[in-house]
Amino acid sequence: MQTIDNYNFAGKKAFVRVDFNVPLDENFNITDDTRMRAALPTLKKIIGDGGSVIIGSHLGRPKGPTDKFSLKHILPHLQELLGVDVQFANDCVGEEAAVKAAALQSGEVLLLENLRFYAEEEGKPRGLAEDATDEEKAAAKKAVKESQKEFTKKLASYADCYVNDAFGTAHRAHASTALIAAYFDVNNKMFGYLMEKEVKAVDKVMNDIQRPFTAIMGGSKVSSKIEIIENLLGKVDNLIIAGGMTYTFTKALGGNIGLSICEADKLDLALDLLKKAKENGVNLVLADDAKIADSFSNDANTQFVPVGEIPDGWEGLDIGPKTEEKFAKVIRESKTILWNGPTGVFEFDNFAHGSLSVAEAIVEATKNGAFSLVGGGDSVACINKFGMADQVSYVSTGGGALLEAIEGKKLPGIAAIEE
Ligand code: AMP
Repeated sequence: MQTIDNYNFAGKKAFVRVDFNVPLDENFNITDDTRMRAALPTLKKIIGDGGSVIIGSHLGRPKGPTDKFSLKHILPHLQELLGVDVQFANDCVGEEAAVKAAALQSGEVLLLENLRFYAEEEGKPRGLAEDATDEEKAAAKKAVKESQKEFTKKLASYADCYVNDAFGTAHRAHASTALIAAYFDVNNKMFGYLMEKEVKAVDKVMNDIQRPFTAIMGGSKVSSKIEIIENLLGKVDNLIIAGGMTYTFTKALGGNIGLSICEADKLDLALDLLKKAKENGVNLVLADDAKIADSFSNDANTQFVPVGEIPDGWEGLDIGPKTEEKFAKVIRESKTILWNGPTGVFEFDNFAHGSLSVAEAIVEATKNGAFSLVGGGDSVACINKFGMADQVSYVSTGGGALLEAIEGKKLPGIAAIEE
């Protein structure tokens, strides 16, 4: 497999798929440029080698061309970050894009307009009538898949090599994230630096495990984490269950959970997971006590109670101090740690302490030599809120992509390069 470090981009044109799907305010100011900064090492390496860059990205979920999701809004900031002029093509597969890409000289950069202005990027039909028949749907799908080939070929035609640095979309088999790779031979396609780091971090927790291996699964619903939990039960030594899904387990075990969030149709599943954990010799760690509230609000009255003794009218919004200590002990003794999902409603300061205690224990274990990976949506927001992102081994930039990788799925964006 080719690597970006080994590749000399001098005189080459590189199509780089990045994830510049940054949040913008109503005046189109970028409110968080993390994703743009994450791609800089890759872009700078190519420019530094004397190559030229054609950047492709999506922004938002447009249903067609619209000013709201135009990548032109991020052009000035991209120029500032890169320290070079960046050209712009108003249509990612129009004549202008082809001409500008062909004319690129060493060290020059071209940003293409939002790839998702075309349905072909995702390969999903758009604008189907709500009452479309199954035949109409199938025909529309077939048509977009056909035109997707032309679209992909056009994008590939701009460049001599392909670099995928968009881990956030690696779980999608889209034109620019996966299909395009088929137009480059194995020596001319590679991961960018960000993608390389993500792939290595996932590999370390899924395949190159130092034991004990502890996963902390939090968040709201067990139903959205079933496949992950099942996959992890074959790998981890300890599985800590936290957050809202605690109460589905507690209820399944016969406890009183008051108004706590619970998926009544998943009680059997919870029992089944407990059974599987036992069969696999996994130490499944559940909360003992909860911080409960008399309303879903930061200012609610609170008390600490055993997790299965929550009075009517109250709900569990975080773990209690006994549980904090129990979780922290397991985490501190671990050598590989994966954290996905908060232990409570961390957005409310009064219910963030459990998540903070988990973060602190992970930081301590990391200082003692453990490898810690934090990722998958809200745990990233959590670790950032606590200002501890630089004290764990790796914070993933991929939400859905990371979760699918932990589920054990081969991500199309990775497979397309590794083939
Ligand atoms: P997820 O997207 O599944 O990782 O869930 C994250 C969300 O779960 C966060 O917004 C938390 O506020 C929420 N959450 C965590 N614990 C609880 C709880 N005990 N009750 C309700 N929501 C919770």
